[in-house]
Amino acid sequence: MKIKNFQAMYPFEGYVIESVNCHSVGIQIKLRRDARRALRCPDCEAGMAFNREREITAYDLSCGGGPVVEIRYPSIQGYCSCCGSYKTIRPKEIHPRRKATWRLMRFVSLLARFVPMSAMMSLVEVPAATAWRYDKDVLEADLPQPDLDGIESLLVDEKAVRRGHGYVTLVLNGDTGELLHLHEGKKKASLEVFFERLSDEQKASIKAVCIDRSGAYRAVIEEQLPDAEIVFDKFHLLQNLGKVVDKVRCEENRRASLEEVPLFIGQRFNLLRHPENLTEKNSASLDKLLAANETLHRVYLLKDQFRLVWTYQMPGWARRQLKGWIEMARETGIEPLVRFAKGVERDIEQIVSWCKHRITNGRIEGFNSIISRVLFKARGIRSIDYLFLKLRQESLLQT
Ligand SMILES: [Zn+2]
Repeated sequence: MKIKNFQAMYPFEGYVIESVNCHSVGIQIKLRRDARRALRCPDCEAGMAFNREREITAYDLSCGGGPVVEIRYPSIQGYCSCCGSYKTIRPKEIHPRRKATWRLMRFVSLLARFVPMSAMMSLVEVPAATAWRYDKDVLEADLPQPDLDGIESLLVDEKAVRRGHGYVTLVLNGDTGELLHLHEGKKKASLEVFFERLSDEQKASIKAVCIDRSGAYRAVIEEQLPDAEIVFDKFHLLQNLGKVVDKVRCEENRRASLEEVPLFIGQRFNLLRHPENLTEKNSASLDKLLAANETLHRVYLLKDQFRLVWTYQMPGWARRQLKGWIEMARETGIEPLVRFAKGVERDIEQIVSWCKHRITNGRIEGFNSIISRVLFKARGIRSIDYLFLKLRQESLLQT
C-alpha cells in the first residue's frame, strides 16, 4: 500500500507520513513536519525560531479492526518573540497531554455510554483509568456550556450518590430537562452557588420552581426568586402519603387478631401501588384485607383520591378538591393521616400551583438509573465534575 493511502486515513495537519511499519503487534506510523510549512506560533501565528525537537508517541484508532495504531511524531519547540515565550507545535488532532488522538478519545467516550470502563481494554486496548480520563476530557471539550438564558421553570432535587451518605443537589431546566447545576451536599449553600451564576435578568425570567417540601431549598428560592412560584413535587407528596399508608398498615397488623394476621401477608406493595397496576390475584387479596379492616380501607380510599389533584386544569378546582380531601382525612381520626392532612393544608398553595406550571421532578427521578450506571461503570465516583458531565450529556441527549 502506498503511504499516500495511509495519509488519507491518518491525516495530521502540518505533518506528513514518513513511514508505515506493519508489525504483528500493530501498525506504527511515523510522521515528520511538512517542510513546506514555516514554523509559526500556534497562538499568534507569528514566525518562530526553531529551538528543539522531541519524538512523542501517541495512539490512534485501529486500522481494519486490528490493534490501536501507534503514531510517532516530532513535537517542535520554538521561540515566539511576539508572545515572548517558548511554544510547542504538535498535530492538532492529538491531545496535548493524553498521548492519544482526539478521535480515539471520542470513540472511547462514545463507548463509555454503553459499556463499563473495565471493558475498554478488550475493546480498544485502553486501560479503564485512562478511558475514564479520555471520557472526561472529551465531555469537557465537547459539551456546550449550560444555557442560563430565558429559563421559565426549574426543577431542584437532591440525590444520594454514595450509600448511606453523600448527596448532590441537582438543578434542571423544567422545560427542556437540561441539567444546569450539580453540587455536593443538599444544604442551602449547595443551591445558593447556582444562583450566584445568574444575572438579575436571568433570575427574572424564572416563573416556577419544583422542589420537595421537606428540603432546605425553599428558603433559598424565596430569597433569590421572590416572584417565582414554588410547586411542591407530586412524586414526593405521593411518596409521603405512601409512608402514611405503610405506617397505618403496620399498626393495624400489630393490632390484628390471630385470624386476621394472615390477611396482611404480602400486602405492603399492594397497598402502595396504584390499583390499576395490580394483578387480578393481588387485587383480590387486597380486597379481602380491606373488607376485613375498616381503618385500612378508609386510608386506602383517601390515598387513591389524593392524586386527583393532579388532574385539574384550574388551581381553583384543585384547591376545592384538596380542601374536601383534607376534611375527609381529618374526620377519619387516624393519627398519621390527620398529621399528613395538616401539612397539606399548610402547603395547599404550593400543591395546587402545579395546575398552572405543570412541572414535576419526574425527570430527576429518571436520573437514578443513570447515576447508578455511571457509578458502576466508573467503579465508584471519583469526581463530582465527572458525574455532572455524564448526567449533563444524558440530559442533553434526552431533550
Ligand atoms: Zn506567539
